[in-house]
Amino acid sequence: MRWRRGLQVMTRRRGEVQIGTDPRWAVRVSGLDRAEAHMLATLTDLEEVPFEGLALRHGVEEVRARELFRLLEEARVLAPAPVHRRGTDRTPVPARLGDDLQVHSLLARDADGAALLGARARRTVGIEGLGRTGAVVASTLAAAGVGALVLDDPRAVGVQEPGVGGITERDVDQPRETVVARVVTDVAPGITTRTGTWADGAPDVVVLVDSYATDPERARTRLESGMAVLPVVVREADAVVGPFVVPRGAPCLRCVGLHHADADPDWPVLVAQLCSRGRRSPAPQVSVLAHLVGAFAASQVLAVLDGEVPATAGASYEFSLPQPIGRRREWSEHPGCECADHVPA
Ligand SMILES: [Zn+2]
Repeated sequence: MRWRRGLQVMTRRRGEVQIGTDPRWAVRVSGLDRAEAHMLATLTDLEEVPFEGLALRHGVEEVRARELFRLLEEARVLAPAPVHRRGTDRTPVPARLGDDLQVHSLLARDADGAALLGARARRTVGIEGLGRTGAVVASTLAAAGVGALVLDDPRAVGVQEPGVGGITERDVDQPRETVVARVVTDVAPGITTRTGTWADGAPDVVVLVDSYATDPERARTRLESGMAVLPVVVREADAVVGPFVVPRGAPCLRCVGLHHADADPDWPVLVAQLCSRGRRSPAPQVSVLAHLVGAFAASQVLAVLDGEVPATAGASYEFSLPQPIGRRREWSEHPGCECADHVPA
């Protein structure tokens, strides 16, 4: 058996030990004598748990030690021994991902954080729109171990953009995609970056960061090319993340547009104006909002890459200044959209 690295062990009064501080898995073990409590308190630095040796060293009966470790296994404090890795799976996790490795070893059911990070290193994410928010998405994904980024935004860094996402004063007037490629390479040496082309393979996921509205046509072509799409829209003083749409998934972005049009028949006219205005004159990206929204969008991409259902599946989150905390808005399939036909009953 293997101890889940990072779990804190605290000694309580009256023969009790508490393992973990996160309410999702924290447990209290009671009815322990001093030797048993001391044995459990020594576990924290062990990758493998040789419980027979531990029992002997602490003077705990082997039957009793076996019972205690069975309880810890049921409580997910202990995990199965790691599987034997082969081929590229044996590539060691870079030291800079040590914190990610520890946390994902706690979160993963099989405690195999290395397998999760190894899978991330083989994935590609596209980011289109590399102002402050897009730069935060890119640098956060790079720091989290994503292996390749396709960066798309040839526009120049503006004088108001340094200070967020690794953009500095000396980057002003340089192409955003070149600047962000340098930032993520500094963050994660060994990452692959490409600018503005899918020639070497389409990304698994693409994040579209736009001002005022997502261009429905651009989202549609990405979905038809097999990419999952996460829209991020920055507006006058807020930003919206989601809904995340996978190819042939529902509700889709057209569903969202049709719901808007039900509430406001002029919606398509407004979207066309907002898209062209956003391209000409992007919305302001205040540092607090760019950090928060960029990191949240990155968390949603990582959820998809890690095989989880993202919180933004069928929902968007609106973050409004001055205190952006994220309000959830759920979307349903629109009866007028053909995407509903794709969903298996
Ligand atoms: Zn739809």
